[in-house]
Amino acid sequence: MHDNAPDDRYDLLVVGSANADLVIGVERRPAPGETVLGSDLAVHPGGKGANQSLAAARLGARTALLARVGDDDHGRLLLDSQRAAGVDTDGVLVGGAPTGVALITVDPSGDNSIVVSPGANGRLTPEDVRAAAPLLAAARVISVQLEIPLDTVAETVRGRGPDTRLVLNPSPPAPLPGEVLAACDPLVVNEHEARYILGEDAGEGPHDWAPALLALGPRSVVVTLGAAGALVADSRTGSLDHLVSPKVEAVDTTGAGDAFTAALAWRLGRGDDLRGAAAFAVRVGAAAVTARGAQESFPTLEEVDAL
Ligand code: ADP
Repeated sequence: MHDNAPDDRYDLLVVGSANADLVIGVERRPAPGETVLGSDLAVHPGGKGANQSLAAARLGARTALLARVGDDDHGRLLLDSQRAAGVDTDGVLVGGAPTGVALITVDPSGDNSIVVSPGANGRLTPEDVRAAAPLLAAARVISVQLEIPLDTVAETVRGRGPDTRLVLNPSPPAPLPGEVLAACDPLVVNEHEARYILGEDAGEGPHDWAPALLALGPRSVVVTLGAAGALVADSRTGSLDHLVSPKVEAVDTTGAGDAFTAALAWRLGRGDDLRGAAAFAVRVGAAAVTARGAQESFPTLEEVDAL
């Protein structure tokens, strides 16, 4: 593993999506052909990639983002918020399509209905990843999700440095090629993603899922369990550990998984073992649910320590 000596490598490179979240509160959803009035529009920077890079930078990680946004106001909002948090955005490509957008309606019970337009995220190509080879080589850990094309994810797996660790959160879930699964160390899934990947073979519960997921090829697996914390399975040690989340008053769980994965990836890059990194990440996830929103809710290291 890496030591903690300062060097010029990034703790974390996130290769992923950047979206503008457009949120309107509604009394009820419109039926087909119907128009309803809603609240004022709120626009937030989001997308799993941008969420993770911002969460890591807020904790103090030296972080870079490889993504694509449009040459438009939403793209500038995303770049500005990343830079303000200290993320290196030299790898963020601009143009080719409008910035990705999530159109979100929220009803009084708090339920969301979401339509995503991938936009520029869908134009982040394997060629873009090859052109960013120095960035990939300069990362201790690379984190990817599935809001960008699967070919681009696979190229990231192939292009990573020999001692660069890969963390993958397969969200939204999709069938994964064997070469991608085999590179994950760890594969990070929530309950929904675990069930999707395992299908009929899911078994009774999380204690069955972790070994079943390991059998698909990743070197390690983390299953996040919301308020119950996370399960960590490592093929090298054969261990299966449950890390309990601190008890907190949950206000809004949006982005908790992204904060968790960013924290985990950062600590792995700093040399923590998987169990230690996950023990830190459950505290970051818990801190993130105590405030509203996604990126607005991501804690600083001081806030995590204060939990
Ligand atoms: P996702 O957001 O991807 O669905 P989870 O809901 O499993 O993922 O949450 C990720 C992590 O966030 C959990 O492992 C836990 O550390 C933290 N977390 C989520 N919900 C709560 C909660 N209600 N109380 C405390 N921690 C939580």
